[in-house]
Amino acid sequence: MNKRTFLKIIAVASASIWLLPYRLFAKPSAFTLPALPYPTQALEPHFDQMTMEIHHGKHHAAYVKNLNEAVKQTNYVDYSVEEILGEVAAKQPAIRNNAGGHYNHSLFWTLLSPTGGGEPTGAIGEALKDTFGSFQAFQEQFQKEALSRFGSGWVWLIVDYKNQKLRITSTPNQDNPLMKKIVKERGRPILALDVWEHAYYLKYQNKRADFIKAFWNVVNWEEVNKRFSS
Ligand code: MN
Repeated sequence: MNKRTFLKIIAVASASIWLLPYRLFAKPSAFTLPALPYPTQALEPHFDQMTMEIHHGKHHAAYVKNLNEAVKQTNYVDYSVEEILGEVAAKQPAIRNNAGGHYNHSLFWTLLSPTGGGEPTGAIGEALKDTFGSFQAFQEQFQKEALSRFGSGWVWLIVDYKNQKLRITSTPNQDNPLMKKIVKERGRPILALDVWEHAYYLKYQNKRADFIKAFWNVVNWEEVNKRFSS
């Protein structure tokens, strides 16, 4: 073994030792499509089965597949989706769109429930009244934001990072309030509504207002309250 080979081996070995803990704690597998927490027909008649099947099984699945494709061969392969949204999304459009799509839909499914709807109680019920005047006033403002979001996007209820107050906001495409350097009104999302046409076109066609009305019947306020209080 000549000196050069020896030094090369030392260099590779020491680099591997430094990488070992990183590898041990790295995310073990690629991003995966989470199962729906209820059957696809469970939200009928408000959200129809075929829309749920396509929305989850095709649209969301495609964001997961494309996110895995986009992070392959990058250092971000071991990042969590939240880390990607916070730090990476601004740099690469493919990662921004697909990490956003994956995060947004994963959250959205948990915010719906066949036993949902009605008026929220508990901490979130109180906070909505304190912030917006009444639950009805909150609904009106949320609906207004959803109707005025042009094209595809999302409407959010967030806990604003700046003052910890509740705030209604919306984002285009698959952007979301976690994205640094992209989104101005940033915060922790506790309620979300997908207003892309793929979320409602089969049942409601162009009538986004009817879809929003249906949404109120399936909101999982227990989950919203849990996220608000955590
Ligand atoms: Mn969608």
